[in-house]
Amino acid sequence: MTRSAIERRINRIKRELARLGPLHPGTVSTQFNICGTPGCRCKDPLNPRKHGPYYQLSYGWRGKTSSLFIRVDQLAAMRKKVANYKRLQELLREWVDLQMELERQERTAQQRRRHRGIPGMAAPGGNSGPPGLSASQSVVRSTAVPGRTQDSTAGI
Ligand SMILES: [Zn+2]
Repeated sequence: MTRSAIERRINRIKRELARLGPLHPGTVSTQFNICGTPGCRCKDPLNPRKHGPYYQLSYGWRGKTSSLFIRVDQLAAMRKKVANYKRLQELLREWVDLQMELERQERTAQQRRRHRGIPGMAAPGGNSGPPGLSASQSVVRSTAVPGRTQDSTAGI
């Protein structure tokens, strides 16, 4: 993809992000339950009829998992929120992919210029950012904090 094609795609992503409606992480599941009442229809030995359906939203956020029941009249709205959240994640991944592709292209172009003999530049592949602490700190930070909390908040 050319640089201008990538930038156009990024702009489309930003516009779609701005239009994205209410959202919520998680998945909606349908459940039928058995209660504790003796002799209830849900425990009928011949024709058990469980209670339900109940709709439950289960989600993890910032390392904590939760679930909540959804009323039938709010089911469609919640399914839309869940779909919007999935779309948000797709758009973020695509945005970051495109941004990283731009970065690769810029580095390749820089290296070509360097090979043509521009003096005073760092070695190819070297980190041309600030020397010393900041570079090593960023490496430590990115490797030392694995896990769900980091993943779920990254990019938000
Ligand atoms: Zn029952």
